[in-house]
Amino acid sequence: MRVAIGGCCPRCGKGRLFASLIAFAPACSNCGLDFLAFNVGDGAASFLILIIGAIVTGLAMWLELSVEPAWYVHVLLWLPLTLVLTLAMLRFSKALLLALEYRHEARQGRL
Ligand SMILES: [Zn+2]
Repeated sequence: MRVAIGGCCPRCGKGRLFASLIAFAPACSNCGLDFLAFNVGDGAASFLILIIGAIVTGLAMWLELSVEPAWYVHVLLWLPLTLVLTLAMLRFSKALLLALEYRHEARQGRL
């Protein structure tokens, strides 16, 4: 959880895990751990699509049924909220998956 929240290296806890908003750095700047050796894939994104989609859809339906605002209120509310939630949770979940792979020494299957 410390790695996921702080976006730091799972081995040393000091180097930055991300080179940009959601892209991993190639390696830890402090201890040299190769982040590209880990493969978190699209697992995080598919869960986020379902979870955030359900949350935003539920909130939009509740707002529409209770207040009936103009259509642009929905656009102004839900588009930014969806974008912020997705980016924040994608960064958190990718870091969490990488930390779990590191902790459990998960690797690609080999024959
Ligand atoms: Zn490190």
